[in-house]
Amino acid sequence: MALRSTVELQLEARILAKNDRAATANRELFQSRQWRVLNLLGSPGAGKTALLEATLKALGDRPEPPIQLYVIEGDQATDNDARRIQAAGGHAVQVGTGQGCHLEAAAIAQAAELLNPPHGSLLVIENVGNLVCPALFDLGEAAKVVVISTTEGDDKPLKYPHAFRAAHAIVLTKTDLLPYVPFDRDRFLDCVRRINPTAPVFEVSALMGLGLGDWCAWATATTAAPTDAS
Ligand code: MG
Ligand code: ZN
Repeated sequence: MALRSTVELQLEARILAKNDRAATANRELFQSRQWRVLNLLGSPGAGKTALLEATLKALGDRPEPPIQLYVIEGDQATDNDARRIQAAGGHAVQVGTGQGCHLEAAAIAQAAELLNPPHGSLLVIENVGNLVCPALFDLGEAAKVVVISTTEGDDKPLKYPHAFRAAHAIVLTKTDLLPYVPFDRDRFLDCVRRINPTAPVFEVSALMGLGLGDWCAWATATTAAPTDAS
């Protein structure tokens, strides 16, 4: 294994410190606008966008006063996911990261201002599909959520401990496939608990619309419904 040089490590520390300053400013912005901001992390194909499409539908079906969902989509290329959210009735902007493999706080401030959700909205940032460096970059979010599907390995929490440790909630997607895939649910939950003893684990099928109620209740827990027609 190649050891990284002191210069590389100093550069990395500088990049992270700069990001942390932007994240602190984001956090103040989000609080002042009363947005509940979630940062969604997961591998490509984990079902992050499908979860958001299903969340939009589930929030719309609830008897409570509607909470609006706004989405910042991060991908290296295309605006496909932002268009999926819009087609599902949500508001979304796409941030293209080019060669970048994660979102940084400065880009989030611009995207959030562009979206400008009303007070009390839920604002979800769908990070670039990647379980490694997105865990290191604070975006100013209230909570990180790791999304993992039953088509991935049930030992993923042990392989990507930084993301799972940083998670305030974990969503296991594609539960409708459990009878057909070798994913061992009990082993997965055991791996999660070894890395992160406290985060709630929500088990959902976006395709079948299963398990979304508890997830939506958690996701919107601290968002206040807007009191006026803002
Ligand atoms: Mg996506
Ligand atoms: Zn990265």
